[in-house]
Amino acid sequence: MKWEENVRKAVPYVPGVPPIHGNMIKLNTNECPYPPAPGVQAALAAMQSEDMRLYPDPASEVLVQGLADYYGVKKEQVFVGVGSDDVLSMAFLTFFNGDRPILFPDTTYSFYEVWADLYRIPYETCDLDGDLHIRPEDYKRLNGGVIFPNPNAPTGVYEPLALVEEIVGANRDVVVIVDEAYIDFGGESALPLIQKYDNLLVVQTFSKSRAMAGLRIGFAMGNEKLIRYLGDVKFSINSYTMNRPALALGMEALRDKAYFEEITGKIVNTRERVKGELRELGFSFPDSMANFIFASHKRIPARQIFQALKERDIYVRYWDKPRINNSLRITVGTDAEMDTLLAFLKEYINRNSK
Ligand code: PMP
Repeated sequence: MKWEENVRKAVPYVPGVPPIHGNMIKLNTNECPYPPAPGVQAALAAMQSEDMRLYPDPASEVLVQGLADYYGVKKEQVFVGVGSDDVLSMAFLTFFNGDRPILFPDTTYSFYEVWADLYRIPYETCDLDGDLHIRPEDYKRLNGGVIFPNPNAPTGVYEPLALVEEIVGANRDVVVIVDEAYIDFGGESALPLIQKYDNLLVVQTFSKSRAMAGLRIGFAMGNEKLIRYLGDVKFSINSYTMNRPALALGMEALRDKAYFEEITGKIVNTRERVKGELRELGFSFPDSMANFIFASHKRIPARQIFQALKERDIYVRYWDKPRINNSLRITVGTDAEMDTLLAFLKEYINRNSK
């Protein structure tokens, strides 16, 4: 068919499988195993039909101001979107318009290459070192922009702020995006650096540490000028990205800092315990600072364990891709969920070692 020549062809990102049934243990998409803050649920119950009948505020003022107050920045330094995927996609479209390739790690969030291809942005990947850390030297050459997650996905490897600053500082002529989807599980955010570097955009999400993946709330913080440019692109595509419930419920979540600290603290404690137990079962993994562990077993191939877990209704994430095809990305769930996982693994590994 002739018309196909004019189609924008895309190779889409494939998200983890959606929930299938009630009994499954879902450790495959890095959701939070705990409910959102109690105030969020109360506000949801109080929603009015007006919240559906009326358009939302196109500037998302309530949430933008709430985030600005929470993080101690100006509201002109905050941009919000429909999950950080929306924010990142908008940032690719806005900031990565040069002829030079953008740079990101070779093992990283696989959506980056999807957006680059979709928007026809040239890109090159930079190898991680033997311990799966970013090598800052690789980012000190001419490029059209830089993006990396910190902690990285799917490895969980965290880079100290000094390394982030080294990369941002070496790239003052392009925009550097630090994707901090998992920063609330123990890392130090690059946010303070936005006051010093006008080329730094820090992106975060309510999907993991605030237990609101279903509401789709993401945000970016940076220099006012960066944020203005992002807004111009957003308002050229869709004025009303954030829906009224998401704006109100996101604001509610920000009000309860104690609850946020409680659930992120619980996840970190569970993660550290599970690391020890996985090691005893013969797994190895880079030290994760995220809400997941990227583990491989010394004898049994990851693909085989993935299948066995699936048959037992325990879902983790597996990619049949070079370099990462012998690892499982296991989201940190509740203690009870992790105990079920560990008990199964113990029995399975014993059975398969005879
Ligand atoms: N960045 C990274 C590194 C991620 O792993 C994810 C989750 N898939 C996202 C961004 C997007 O998350 P969300 O759109 O739910 O904010």
